[in-house]
Amino acid sequence: MYSNTDTNNKRTLASSTVGGERYEVKRHHGTKYPHLLNFYSVPPTEEITIDEFESFAFDRLQVLKALEGAILRNKSEDDVKKYLEETSNKWLPLHSNESSKAYLVQEERRKDHISHFILRLAYSRTEELRNWFLKYECALFKLRFLRENPTEKQAFLNDENMRWKSLNQAEKKLMKEELNACSIPITTDGEFCDLFEIDFEKVPDLVARRAVYLKEGKAYVPVTQQLSLVMYEFRQRLAKALELASKSFITLRNERIMPMLDEIIKQYDGRTQTSNYSVINNPIADNLVDHFPLCMQHLYQNLCENHHLKHYARIQFNLFLKGIGLTVEESLAFWKKSFSKVDEDKFQRDYAYNIRHNYGVEGKRQDYKPLNCMSLITKHRPNSGEIHGCPFREFSQPNLKAKLVQMGVRNDEHIREILNLAEEEHYQVACTKYFEITKGLLDKNNDSIIIETIEHPNEYLNASVLLEKNRKKMSNKDK
Ligand code: SF4
Repeated sequence: MYSNTDTNNKRTLASSTVGGERYEVKRHHGTKYPHLLNFYSVPPTEEITIDEFESFAFDRLQVLKALEGAILRNKSEDDVKKYLEETSNKWLPLHSNESSKAYLVQEERRKDHISHFILRLAYSRTEELRNWFLKYECALFKLRFLRENPTEKQAFLNDENMRWKSLNQAEKKLMKEELNACSIPITTDGEFCDLFEIDFEKVPDLVARRAVYLKEGKAYVPVTQQLSLVMYEFRQRLAKALELASKSFITLRNERIMPMLDEIIKQYDGRTQTSNYSVINNPIADNLVDHFPLCMQHLYQNLCENHHLKHYARIQFNLFLKGIGLTVEESLAFWKKSFSKVDEDKFQRDYAYNIRHNYGVEGKRQDYKPLNCMSLITKHRPNSGEIHGCPFREFSQPNLKAKLVQMGVRNDEHIREILNLAEEEHYQVACTKYFEITKGLLDKNNDSIIIETIEHPNEYLNASVLLEKNRKKMSNKDK
């Protein structure tokens, strides 16, 4: 990277090379981040603490994962925007220049910049990770671009040297008939809106939508479609940068950074949970069944029918009960009642020890955490005759369909959506969709609550309990 000073406009031209191409970016003196938007062409060079490294990366990941969940669940564009707003404010706030008096916008942008580069490096490792990162970084940039005001957007594009050849009035007149035939927008003066001349392969989505006029390898793009041009640039640059980062990754041997990058990658498959699970005082397992996620409903039903669960199913369910807030004594009482066909001696000998062990009061006294979805989805997959794990992963499509119907999902479209998500291996998103459907969150005029992608069975239960409490509160207010 190098820089030189443009003394006339008091800016610095910084350039960086990505994938063999050089990009020039104007930098404003005294303001490291003049814009909310960032093409991330220039990597950060400052030192950061280990704490910042970790927290910046995880916070950005929360936003990308939230976007993934909302998009995969086919949320409307407005819902995705609203969701992004909520999640960003929580994890990665980013305000425009007009709010610079109220917020530390330079700090916000620094975090945005650094966190992007950390994840870019972490997610450059495999093609699957690169594709994931590219997809949701593009989605994030697009939503931010749409949210930004036009003046700021233009200033950003100018600084990024993103200018396209504009057609003058005479050129537009020459193409009048063709432009009319393509329904190019007209301004209030009765003229065609501004048009850019672009190589047609740079705007495949516009070509596919027939939103541009094509002639001799060029696409004539109305200014109203500027977003497509910007997104093309963003995607191209980031894809190249990720390829480049993947090569650096191979040679990266930093003993402190590698474990942290590994940890970040693990989050791709589900974030770690804190030990603070329960939102319920004095829980009674049997009274909370309606709030159980499908995995636990399935175990509970089997337990009621057969008065028994096998080893891994017992661990899964027992740790879930622990997460709800049952004490070890309450758990023992629950299992004893449920294993009603097992006599006292056998129960004490074969089962009670393991139940207490899960609570850390036996053996090496480890305080085992309730298992999160990713553990249930990936570890100790059930063999024949075992029923633990995640139904969205383990059930065949006909069995999952039958289970959904049994649990009250009757709408064909809803069933199809869940089955498709499960088939495409988006198990947690399928579970979140199931939550939304069974809790009536998709009904129009109902609670406009948007939940994050389910990461943990106890999170599911808590969300369900809180939803019920909120609804009760609201209906009491209405009385
Ligand atoms: S996604 Fe998680 S909470 Fe939902 S059924 Fe699967 S394991 Fe249970």
